[in-house]
Amino acid sequence: MPKARETVLEIDLNALAHNFNYLRSKVDPDVKMMAVIKAFGYGSDVVEIAKKLMELGADYFAVAYTSEGVTLRKAGIELPILVLHPQSVNFEELIENCLEPSLYSEFVLKEFIKVAEKLDQKEYPVHLKFNTGLNRLGLREKETDMVSELLNGTKAVKAASFFSHLAASEDWREREFTLEQIHTFRGIALKLYDALGYRPLLHICNTSGVINYPKAHFDMVRTGIGLYGFGNEKGEDQKLKPIGTLKTIISQIHHLKKGDSVGYNRAFKANKLTKTATLPIGHADGINRQYGNGRAGVILNGQYAPIIGNVCMDMVMIDITDIDCKEGDEVVIFGGPQHATKFAAKGNTISYELITGISQRVKRRLVEN
Ligand SMILES: *Cc1c(COP(=O)(O)O)cnc(C)c1O
Repeated sequence: MPKARETVLEIDLNALAHNFNYLRSKVDPDVKMMAVIKAFGYGSDVVEIAKKLMELGADYFAVAYTSEGVTLRKAGIELPILVLHPQSVNFEELIENCLEPSLYSEFVLKEFIKVAEKLDQKEYPVHLKFNTGLNRLGLREKETDMVSELLNGTKAVKAASFFSHLAASEDWREREFTLEQIHTFRGIALKLYDALGYRPLLHICNTSGVINYPKAHFDMVRTGIGLYGFGNEKGEDQKLKPIGTLKTIISQIHHLKKGDSVGYNRAFKANKLTKTATLPIGHADGINRQYGNGRAGVILNGQYAPIIGNVCMDMVMIDITDIDCKEGDEVVIFGGPQHATKFAAKGNTISYELITGISQRVKRRLVEN
């Protein structure tokens, strides 16, 4: 692998393949795989990730917003794409781009039917989202009659799936709550099967659902974080491979004497002779201020170097007093020798937030062998 010469997020497509195949092996062959690639493929490189996932056999994609689906269509991605959280103002654009909406309330269901009828659609595929306990988005159990009346009353749309989302699939202490969500979902689906006279696909599991609730895979699973190499628990983390490695280089080295300070507000003060390095990555790149002042560190020539002082917009400084290194040397922020979950924990957050927060100005570089 070539050494970094600037800040770069390396995306390992072999690791993506490993993760996809691992998750695929956890579900029956006839269960469809929906790959969740919202937020730029969890901060990676959405178009390249999508192409690779199609090659690997993904059946469906999911994104959060309509604009994300449009980006994929413009790049020539032809797989069905579920838009998890469209707004009614997006519905024409959504249909023009052959994107499939999640309809999560009476209002958006009615609005979508209106638009689909206006655009002369026939059986346009839609996905009905039910709230079974997350209380975030979704139609309620008592709205099933309304849903079936509206669907039976139009030829413009047809349900492609019913789905729900688990609130705590990674948390064993909430197992009973999760089982109750699955039970409620099954009940809603059965009621609607009867009322509609056909059987759309059912799906409720995210990555941790796939791993922890094998009896709830239904017809499809929606895997996000697992594809990118995170399993939400140690054992699963070990079976998956993080696809991203965030690297940068040393821009400049400084030799400080006792009493010198580093960075804004002089937040770090040297209490002895200290050697520091400045790196071209800061909070505008997704390395939040939370990681500063010794809370997190980076890996340099195999050794740990803490971030000192306040994280700046475009830079961080690290303490390299005992490390043999020179300007231009490669530094790993996370990935490879430092698991992103561990780095994220030092900033009081989780892998999801860390990886999706790496800003678009950081260059992405694909690696595959
Ligand atoms: C983001 C999301 C997923 C993927 O969840 P992971 O935990 O990343 O696997 C699945 N379903 C919905 C509705 C989501 O919003």
